[in-house]
Amino acid sequence: MSLVLDHVRYTYPGSTHGLDDVSLDVRTGELVAVIGPSGSGKSTLLKLVSGLETGHTGRIALDGEDLSGKPVHRRHIGMVFQSYALFPHLNVQDNVAYGLKLRKVATGARRKRAQELLDLVGLGSFAQRAVAQLSGGQQQRVALARALAIDPRALLLDEPLSALDAGVRGRLRDEIRAIQQRFNATTLLVTHDQEEALTMADRVAVLQDGRLLQIATPREIYEQPASRAVAEFVGLSTVLPATVAAPDRIDLGFALLAAATQGRATGTSVHVLIRPEHVQPDPAPDALNRLAGRTSAQRYLGALTRYDFEVSGAGKPFLAESRAAASQAIAVAPEHIRLLDD
Ligand code: ADP
Repeated sequence: MSLVLDHVRYTYPGSTHGLDDVSLDVRTGELVAVIGPSGSGKSTLLKLVSGLETGHTGRIALDGEDLSGKPVHRRHIGMVFQSYALFPHLNVQDNVAYGLKLRKVATGARRKRAQELLDLVGLGSFAQRAVAQLSGGQQQRVALARALAIDPRALLLDEPLSALDAGVRGRLRDEIRAIQQRFNATTLLVTHDQEEALTMADRVAVLQDGRLLQIATPREIYEQPASRAVAEFVGLSTVLPATVAAPDRIDLGFALLAAATQGRATGTSVHVLIRPEHVQPDPAPDALNRLAGRTSAQRYLGALTRYDFEVSGAGKPFLAESRAAASQAIAVAPEHIRLLDD
């Protein structure tokens, strides 16, 4: 089942907010994570696909079938929300079997199916429990089992882990991904957690102000962001204005650096993007792109130290990460300086 959004526009009645000409596809069995600042349109996108919000222009289609005008329950889409939204008066098994009951599946068959799914999410022995007796992580696994029980044509996950503690979240991330892959479920995941998006998704879609800025693999989004907005939103970085001084030379105002200018004309204004792990502490005195200065703040992260390195005239510190902070100088290899067009 593939999910396609083609030039989808939507504006909330009486406002100018919503989605602005969003086109993206989720291939069969693929997990696409949708990220973006608060208010960028992530929930709106999910609501339009699920049918909870209607009235868009453009096309939303599942395996070629246009979903416009189809009510929520006829789209056959599984949904998992941040708040587990389980039925408190039903036990675990009946929660999982709920969608099958609505679809008039016989009692025996739906209990069997519910049990299979509970086994799959590691809650096989909890079938008769009241949902209130489960932890948050367990409730979210029940919600996932319930969404999958109907053999959905697509799966929508709306901040499924954000109500859980960090430890549970990490584990459940891996579990949800493994189950999603096992079911080959075509999945859209909305999250405000970049790490969740980068670790779980096949591709990441970045939204801002209702527009799709980029959709690409996690590696491409992080290493080859299409714009400054994507670069600054995903991961930590130092972004500074610069001008192309000559082929493969850029002028930062306070320093001239070697970097691939890729055919940009001399005088072109750009921004440079440098990721903290690419800042080398205390390079050799004759190292390329060496910048002298001093470390102003350090945060101990265990295996690494994250620090701010002040270079005179830069206006803001370079954010760096390495085993130990630099004492006198840093360097950034040319291949780790990415130019972003203004
Ligand atoms: P996100 O999920 O990325 O935080 P939303 O999709 O909830 O963003 O919201 C996108 C934009 O639409 C925001 O500017 C938000 O204020 C606006 N919005 C959301 N829901 C409504 C609504 N029911 N009526 C009017 N505007 C809304």
